[in-house]
Amino acid sequence: MMPDRVSLVARWVQEAPRVTVLTGAGISTESGIPDFRGPQGLWTKHPEKQRLFTISTYLADPEVRRQAWRERLDHPAWSARPGPGHRALAAFERTGRLRALATQNIDGLHQAAGSDPALVLELHGTLHEAVCLSCGLRTPMGEVLDRVRGGEDDPACLACGGVQKSATVSFGQALDPEILEAAFLAAQTCELFIAVGTSLTVTPAATLCDTAVRAGARLVIVNAEPTPYDRMAAVILSDPIGEVLPSILTTGTG
Ligand code: NAD
Repeated sequence: MMPDRVSLVARWVQEAPRVTVLTGAGISTESGIPDFRGPQGLWTKHPEKQRLFTISTYLADPEVRRQAWRERLDHPAWSARPGPGHRALAAFERTGRLRALATQNIDGLHQAAGSDPALVLELHGTLHEAVCLSCGLRTPMGEVLDRVRGGEDDPACLACGGVQKSATVSFGQALDPEILEAAFLAAQTCELFIAVGTSLTVTPAATLCDTAVRAGARLVIVNAEPTPYDRMAAVILSDPIGEVLPSILTTGTG
């Protein structure tokens, strides 16, 4: 690792009264969930799969929905366990200085690691629930997947017959305004903002970095590959997240 920069950031973490963290798919690759744009990413390898994540094609094409349900059945999140990065963030929370943990991930691994659900802002929703696109009814994902296993290849909403999907934000869908507002407020009210495992190419999530820096926070980026925000960062750490986060967050957490 890069010892000087790591100990510098560890000191910033210890000194900052409020730390806001933004995580992306890269924190879960060590748990066996591929990211989208990294070298082994889903879209790097299968660009055509973006159709499954676009709301207009999902609504228009039953075959897209059938394929999406098959993929949800086999999603690696169902067997994934939190990694050292998730655990280090949950441990850091006990200092009382974690302002918020905004995540672009839908896998629920922060909560599984013990992070307080009230601090986790799931900007892109969750895979652990299904939602009806007509009436908005939310159902635990396990119940809907049981119907898929039972032979329903595009299970309709039991309340109104509408099209269902995972409660995740697809391309063409708006983010939850309350969650987004809470994330921007947390970016504005911290001394240190750490972006972890994200290519910072998806807006508005990526613009949280900009907001934090403009409000006076130091930006630290923990990511293997370059990002468009690198020039704004005080320090960039590109070693594996599972090594970097325990090193910068665990000192002094008891
Ligand atoms: P991304 O795929 O665009 O970028 C991930 C970044 O993490 C890459 O730059 C990669 O180099 C880096 N990375 C991967 N493993 C790493 C490691 N071990 N150490 C250091 N760096 C590592 O991901 P994103 O920016 O989060 O955007 C992807 C979108 O896809 C998000 O909107 C998210 O909702 C969704 N997504 C979620 C999951 C999940 O829930 N786990 C998985 C894939 C995609």
